[in-house]
Amino acid sequence: MGPIRSLMVDDSVKEQVKEATDIVAIVGQFVTLKRRGVNLTGLCPFHTEKTPSFTVHADRQFFHCFGCGKGGDVFTFLMEHEGWSFPEALKYCADRAGIQLPSSRDPGDAQSRLREEMAQALALADEIYRRALFSSTGQHALAYLRKRGFQDQTLKRAGVGYAPPSYETVLKAGQGRGISPKALEAAGLILPSTKGGSPYDRFRNRVTFPIINLSGKTVGFGARALSDEDQPKYMNSPETALYQKGRLLYGLATTRDAIRRENRAIIVEGYLDWLTMIEAGIDNVVAVSGTALTDTQAKLLARFCERVTLLFDADAAGQRAALRGIDIVFNAALGADVAILPAGEDPDSLIRHQGVDAMKRALTGAFGIVEYRVDGERSRAAGGRLDFLAQEKLVKEFAELANRLDDPTRRETFLAEVRAHLGIDAATMSRLIPALTPTSRPASKAPPQPRRDVLSPHAEFLRLLLESPDYVQRARTQVLPDDFDHPVLRNMYETLLERTADGAFPKTPQGLADDPEEIEHWSRLLSHSIDPETAERAVEGHLKELAKKHRPALQVRQLIAQAERVGDVDTAKRLTADLAEAMRLDRKDATLREPGM
Ligand SMILES: [Zn+2]
Repeated sequence: MGPIRSLMVDDSVKEQVKEATDIVAIVGQFVTLKRRGVNLTGLCPFHTEKTPSFTVHADRQFFHCFGCGKGGDVFTFLMEHEGWSFPEALKYCADRAGIQLPSSRDPGDAQSRLREEMAQALALADEIYRRALFSSTGQHALAYLRKRGFQDQTLKRAGVGYAPPSYETVLKAGQGRGISPKALEAAGLILPSTKGGSPYDRFRNRVTFPIINLSGKTVGFGARALSDEDQPKYMNSPETALYQKGRLLYGLATTRDAIRRENRAIIVEGYLDWLTMIEAGIDNVVAVSGTALTDTQAKLLARFCERVTLLFDADAAGQRAALRGIDIVFNAALGADVAILPAGEDPDSLIRHQGVDAMKRALTGAFGIVEYRVDGERSRAAGGRLDFLAQEKLVKEFAELANRLDDPTRRETFLAEVRAHLGIDAATMSRLIPALTPTSRPASKAPPQPRRDVLSPHAEFLRLLLESPDYVQRARTQVLPDDFDHPVLRNMYETLLERTADGAFPKTPQGLADDPEEIEHWSRLLSHSIDPETAERAVEGHLKELAKKHRPALQVRQLIAQAERVGDVDTAKRLTADLAEAMRLDRKDATLREPGM
């Protein structure tokens, strides 16, 4: 038994949880899936790709990626994607389905125990902060937020809270629940005392914003001071085993549906900007909070939408962030626009000073990045005119971006836009950058062809067998494991015969194997859809092909034994007759005989 199984509490519990869980709903939290035939596809969360090769099979409840080969069930997905142990993945699904798990006698390894305790600590702190905001302790914080124009229901929706001024609110509550100071500290909630005293709460007298990951767990907090004397103004949770800043986007767990719907994400800088947008009814927003936009974040967004709008302050720092952002979203093959705010305003102040309509105007007036860059350079150039050098610089910059677009149509559209905004023709453009003409693109940069996974004939046969228990039974008496031309296929067929010997008919990769590698092979096979109309004929074809095989007597005997075991008397008789005939014909050929015959 593999390491996964040894952690298991009970198979029946696992099955119960699995039955109550829809893999499509779970995976859909992390990847936007589009229906293609009976299956759903999306961009693989396990490797970088621009054409979807990641498939989720709703009927058999498993996933498979043709690109990187990863595959498995809902638990495998969560373990791989979230870095959880099996018990953590099981518990997560059980909680979602409202199933109470029997307390496990096997608590898992120290690492996952600590993570579990940290998660409990964060959930507890979240609960304390949320409650405090609407209690007498948090009165002044709530008044401050209301004064800034936030309604209670928006605050509740975003889980905004208040960390009380005491040094031991979370510390004491945590200890009361049996959470160790070690876990509280690892979760970033308390700080060790510098002078040998007791540890104390990190967040005090601050408005708190829970940082929630895509699986819906609070992994950290952003916290804002209530008065200018309190420094720093913004304070974030440190990075922990559960929270890596560059891998997460603030607010995405709340807004991913709106982002999918709009096929666009608006990226703002901080969580207060984010909250302001939500309050204004603009829902497709995320914040980068505490870091510059990273490649990982852009790729994360690409799983949910195709375009982003960078909404940054008009000041120099905001503009630099926007420029960097353009580069990064291009790498993730996202279309990008830049919305420019009136000088001196950030998203929050703009809406407060000029209202939601001013924000909507800024968003609809967002520049494509070409326009944004060209206009920016023009406004800095003497007389508002770009000289040859400035033009060349921009063309080079755009050429660099264009080269990252794998799709030739998108690349051409982009270059046409560049020409239009610079007011130059194609000939001038290729003179500026000779390597830019599409035909001279290096071959290695050719757009990737969508992957087509072709099965070998024997793999296809194995795949067909999974369509009906009847096919397996027919194969059982006519095909031997050794007939398969590949050792992997041979082993898989052997397991299939074993697992169906008692009339069972497992339909999922997990039902067909224990070994993770074999599970992946089965997922690959099962990812191929079979047309039921032609399956019967195809199976017959394969069986006939194999029947032509000239078998040594030993093999025929194995088949006879197999047929007798399943009570297939007709086949047993036919094979015995065949064997007798072969023996008669080959009587003189000793090599066909087994030793001792
Ligand atoms: Zn993949």
